[in-house]
Amino acid sequence: MQLSIVIPLYNEEESLPELHAWIRRVVEQEGYDYEVIFVDDGSRDNSWQVVQSLASENPRVKAIQFQRNYGKSAALNEGFQAAKGDVVITMDADMQDSPDEIPELYAMIKSGQYDLVSGWKQKRFDPLSKTIPTKIYNGVTRYFTGIKLHDMNCGLKSYNRKVVKSIEIYGEMHRYIPVIAKQAGFAKIGEKVVQHRERQYGVTKFGMNRFINGFLDLLSILFVTRFSKKPMHFFGTMGLIVFFFGFLILLYLSISKLFFLGYGMTERPIFYLGLITIVIGVQLFLTGFLAELISRSAADRNDYLISQRIGY
Ligand code: UDP
Ligand code: MG
Repeated sequence: MQLSIVIPLYNEEESLPELHAWIRRVVEQEGYDYEVIFVDDGSRDNSWQVVQSLASENPRVKAIQFQRNYGKSAALNEGFQAAKGDVVITMDADMQDSPDEIPELYAMIKSGQYDLVSGWKQKRFDPLSKTIPTKIYNGVTRYFTGIKLHDMNCGLKSYNRKVVKSIEIYGEMHRYIPVIAKQAGFAKIGEKVVQHRERQYGVTKFGMNRFINGFLDLLSILFVTRFSKKPMHFFGTMGLIVFFFGFLILLYLSISKLFFLGYGMTERPIFYLGLITIVIGVQLFLTGFLAELISRSAADRNDYLISQRIGY
């Protein structure tokens, strides 16, 4: 199969028929061998009934329903596992993304130029309360990850099949799929300016807490991908620095006590700083050892992505 279109949805009953009709028009015009995978993330409205009727009218429609709402990442992950196409395109169900972008997104992956292409909603139709924090969030993410994307969390993306079969997203990590993909070794990440539209029906599913959660998730991703197989390198380095700092302070205090008499050590405020940094330094070390024990017994400690083999 050439193309899988994965659509996570949560309470989007009004837009589904229109979205499906539009996608179908575009992909059938292009003549793709395709499938549309709707992942119903535990909707409480009639989304599932709508999906069922779409599936009965179009055999290319496949669908998965969650028993309850697990979140967009879970829905995408499930859709990725199910996808059979060589190219996988994700889009939101709320009609903010335009299916007219599909042919070009498909071509960019198919040509082999890119592993992943992210949409860029250059001209956005969202409230300011969302667009401004989003700009900051994208800037911070660019800075920390070195991935030059303007719109990391665009719902409209296309992937080489290999990418979606190699990565796992959970929690709210869908915001950082390009980061996860890059860390899995897929470095050809591109961007395409896409049309964005105002939400036609229903309401947004993410509130303001998206920004705090999003930032915490970025920290987790950076930490986990870099250090989960060698946590001592992180905690040990921090521990060494902090401990050494405290050691210097106490050394200085001891010398001045021994040779210059004068104040007692504990009468000087800096003593407490020295004391506390030594204690924290040791704690960081202990944390590092514990983390090593945990990662040593992790089931995936020797899971690597292998791209080619010869002679097997
Ligand atoms: N979505 C989902 N599960 C959730 C929340 C959202 O599957 O728990 C879907 C939602 O139906 C939509 C997409 O994720 O298709 C993007 O959500 P939304 O449009 O609310 O986000 P925004 O455009 O405001 O960033
Ligand atoms: Mg939306």
